[in-house]
Amino acid sequence: MITRYPFSAVVGHDDLKLALLLNAVSPAIGGVLVRGEKGTAKSTVVRSLAALLPRVAVVAGCRFSCDPAAPDPSCPDGPHEGGLSPQTRPARLVELPVGASEDRVAGSLDLERALTEGVKAFEPGLLAAAHRGVLYVDEVNLLHDHLVDLLLDAAAMGVAHVEREGVSVRHAARFLLVGTMNPEEGELRPQLLDRFGLAVEVRASRDPAERAEVVRRRLAFDADPGGFAAAYTGGERDLARRIAAARERLPGVALPDAALRGITAVCAAFDVEGMRADLVMARTAVALAAWEGRDEVTSGDVRTAARLALPHRRRRDPFDDPGHGLDEERLEQALSEADGGSDDGGPDDDGPDDDGPGGGGASGADPADAPPNEGGGTGGRAPVSPTAPYRTRLLAPEAVGRGGPAGRRGRTTGESGRTAGARRPDGRLRRLHLTATLAAAAPHQRGRGRSGSGLVLRREDLREAIREGRESNLVLFCVDASGSMAARARMRAVKGAVLSLLLDAYQRRDKVGLVTFRGEDATVALPPTSSVELASDRLARLATGGRTPLAAGLRRAERVLAAERLRDPRRRPLLVVVTDGRHTSGPDPVAAAARLAGVASVVVDCEHGPVRLGLAGRLAAALGGTPIRIEELAADHLAAVVRDVRKVA
Ligand SMILES: [Zn+2]
Repeated sequence: MITRYPFSAVVGHDDLKLALLLNAVSPAIGGVLVRGEKGTAKSTVVRSLAALLPRVAVVAGCRFSCDPAAPDPSCPDGPHEGGLSPQTRPARLVELPVGASEDRVAGSLDLERALTEGVKAFEPGLLAAAHRGVLYVDEVNLLHDHLVDLLLDAAAMGVAHVEREGVSVRHAARFLLVGTMNPEEGELRPQLLDRFGLAVEVRASRDPAERAEVVRRRLAFDADPGGFAAAYTGGERDLARRIAAARERLPGVALPDAALRGITAVCAAFDVEGMRADLVMARTAVALAAWEGRDEVTSGDVRTAARLALPHRRRRDPFDDPGHGLDEERLEQALSEADGGSDDGGPDDDGPDDDGPGGGGASGADPADAPPNEGGGTGGRAPVSPTAPYRTRLLAPEAVGRGGPAGRRGRTTGESGRTAGARRPDGRLRRLHLTATLAAAAPHQRGRGRSGSGLVLRREDLREAIREGRESNLVLFCVDASGSMAARARMRAVKGAVLSLLLDAYQRRDKVGLVTFRGEDATVALPPTSSVELASDRLARLATGGRTPLAAGLRRAERVLAAERLRDPRRRPLLVVVTDGRHTSGPDPVAAAARLAGVASVVVDCEHGPVRLGLAGRLAAALGGTPIRIEELAADHLAAVVRDVRKVA
């Protein structure tokens, strides 16, 4: 048994602690997302929470933690009849590793035993273990797509469900979901972001005295964990009692009409989607009143609830940073308007100011409206802002991969997806292919002495399904930033195209990298990363002009891909070369292109004007890749053309 760092010994992090405590009081709030850089003790604080939670009463021997007062009717270990012998155990904190298998998370059904021995053998997974406790996902932004889906389903229904070819098991799975993430490593899928009731941003304290205290306590804990924890048992006990008392008080806390009006006014002012934000804010405000020993929600509770529940719910386009806090002025204005607007006597702003960004019905904010980046380039002219992003066609490797990381781009065989065939299992059977199994067993029925109507099935008959799904790729952009491309309108179009492709990569959970070439050489503007925000930032600052060393660009791309093949061998690359195919500096690009022939590639042809040389097409042939003209990149390129015509008009 390891000794955890005591919750009550954590210095600072007030919002984080409050968010966790309020969820402990009222799990219906829906969990906490904790965002912050490395080394901010996010995980320490989260892990210390479980010790404060009230013990749970469970049916003895039930692996699914049924409550003796209300056992789950569908419990796989049930049915639990009356006269149960209840026992209590501490609430659990279960950690869900980012790379866990689906079986590990949802539980596994032993199909071999089910089919050949006729027993339903279900091994509970992490969702069962977390029932009535805390489910903690560190680096939740790196979670595989299929795990995210599992988690979302369970969180939404309070039920985990496993189905293998018609044999299904379901059990209750209600848990407090806590996720931590470092935004520098990539953002969370919006659907998952919205699932977390509250979100807090943590950063290390800037106060030297507080930092010193953090270090002092950490050193003392590491030197003697048991002794250190013992010194905080009083503090821990007080917090645990306060949680239990607040839970009891919770059902009796009143939410006055004025407070509810405040909540809905704030949600409307911040233009949040749907009604979930209103509900979460209401639950948070009520929990806060209970936590502070009050029986009625105050406007202060509403303010605090807004700070914790809204920052991650505002509408935004994917390149916005969800980490920014709330606009305090707007919050106060919404609250005072809901309150009748006149009784705080402050300098009254004259009404709402046209509701700011998010209104207007435009599809996504236009990054071209952002203030220009100064000093981003190394010489050359001021960076050109891109055209508004649009939805692009799917660019993907043509060949089917084998078991790449889950995503939404290239086709691959693997754990999920549609059935594409059957084979004998290498190890344990995972996904039965029923017709192939029956077909394998059929010819042997007489030889096996079948007499009745039942099929005589042997292990060697079992066939598993080969699934084909989508994988996440590395999309490496190799962008010509030379003088031939640098005509402003043209560079705008090129940046708009790459930005659109980046947006697409974000939605498909790809890794992206950016190589640019101009003048004498090529540079790695962005090494492969999952942070599309970083990529779009580098793109916006991209300086242009000079000669066109196309071969150097390709060679640099080749080196980046070679390094990445070592680092992340399962992920297949897609090289996207954005160029008009011209080269005016360095060696002929054909040799460099030939060296990349094994890599799936697309050449986005940026050539324009009445006389076309078709150089990009020639480059695509040398790469063994697919050429596509920049105008054809939009998924609906007719619509894009119409939009451009309108802009001109
Ligand atoms: Zn049970």
